[in-house]
Amino acid sequence: MEFNFTDEQELLLQSLDDLLERECSEQYIAELDAAHEPPTAFRKAMYDTGFLSLGFPEQYGGTPVDAVTLVLLAGRVARQGLNNGYGMELLQAMDILEFGSEAQREEILGLLAQGETPFALGFTEPGAGSDSSGLRTSAVHRDGQVVFNGTKTLITNALRSRNLLLMARDPAVSGSRGAISMYLVPTDAPGITYNQLDKVVWHTADSCEVFFDDVTLPESCLVGTKGRGFEQLMRNFEFERLVIASQCWGQAECAFHDAAAYAAQRQQFGQPIGQFQLIQQKLVDMAIKVENMGNLVLKTAWMLDQGLDLRTQGALCKRYCALSAFEVADDAVQIFGGIGLTNGARVSRIWRDTRGHRVGGGTDEIMVHIAGRQIVKAHN
Ligand SMILES: Cc1cc2nc3c(=O)[nH]c(=O)nc-3n(C[C@H](O)[C@H](O)[C@H](O)COP(=O)(O)OP(=O)(O)OC[C@H]3O[C@@H](n4cnc5c(N)ncnc54)[C@H](O)[C@@H]3O)c2cc1C
Repeated sequence: MEFNFTDEQELLLQSLDDLLERECSEQYIAELDAAHEPPTAFRKAMYDTGFLSLGFPEQYGGTPVDAVTLVLLAGRVARQGLNNGYGMELLQAMDILEFGSEAQREEILGLLAQGETPFALGFTEPGAGSDSSGLRTSAVHRDGQVVFNGTKTLITNALRSRNLLLMARDPAVSGSRGAISMYLVPTDAPGITYNQLDKVVWHTADSCEVFFDDVTLPESCLVGTKGRGFEQLMRNFEFERLVIASQCWGQAECAFHDAAAYAAQRQQFGQPIGQFQLIQQKLVDMAIKVENMGNLVLKTAWMLDQGLDLRTQGALCKRYCALSAFEVADDAVQIFGGIGLTNGARVSRIWRDTRGHRVGGGTDEIMVHIAGRQIVKAHN
């Protein structure tokens, strides 16, 4: 077993570090967070330097690399303190590469390669969250067209995306899962309206309620097979959980380093607070969690590269990393004391943002729901 990176990975990480130093300073991220703006300039720099097309097939202008390398890069961007800075675009590419038509692949991969956000993922509804099979948004197929009606909520980046990857149900089909299909719907289609939600976390991404009122599109907007949308969505979730876990790892590492540096210099009772064992214990537990997160993320990515089943592993990895990242960020805030609870402290932003990862992409409890059943089944 090798624990060192390959030469290619070292080179990519070095070049990403240089780019982060030039284009993604703490001041830049803090300003985006305060203004609730997306990291457009940084994404353009990522596009200009070729990072945004890593992982895509060559025929669409990409450079194939393995999942281990991709999560290393996603974790490194997050280590800068930027939430959701890199990685989700790979997820979007995977969805469309696997299930999309040739026309959809060309459109989505083309937009991705230009640094655009090609779609927002729309499955959550006011009445269907963790139980996404209970969604009610309808998709009625008639005369070569599909008519959508319903409401989605908490949709990340709905306002800055060109499309929605929408999950909707055919009301004529009975049962739950077999009625659900996946569609690629332009965000500016007539009949769609938005209400932006004012959320506590993830200020660099918008979140919206999205209303569909007789939105009518050609049937070619179907992604994959009619009635298989739920299975397709589950495949999406497995990779999404890995990307989220890698971002949690990076953000936790950032908070850990900030806290350790602060503990080394902050003087109380005539000595640095890092000399107190209660502070050292926090730092040690934080270091263990960061190390464990990295190992879990890299092993899970390796399993993806080997074509192994990620259902249980992905849920274990997401639960551990989201929960531990928040615990690390919380300890970091505690080490900073009062100043840690001001918006000027990076650890306060990481604390907010990692909290979001314990819900988005599947809650802590749903990760138990997924992995717990599999563990019991495997020991029956
Ligand atoms: C920052 C953020 C970004 C998001 N982005 C998107 C997006 O881009 N697209 C999108 O479609 N959705 C998105 N969501 C929605 C997200 O997927 C849902 O919030 C999540 O799946 C939980 O659903 P819910 O909020 O309806 O909570 P509910 O499902 O109502 O859950 C409420 C509580 O009950 C618990 N619970 C539910 N079922 C069980 C069970 N079987 N066992 C034990 N406990 C259970 C949950 O864990 C939770 O604690 C986002 C959410 C957040 C916070």
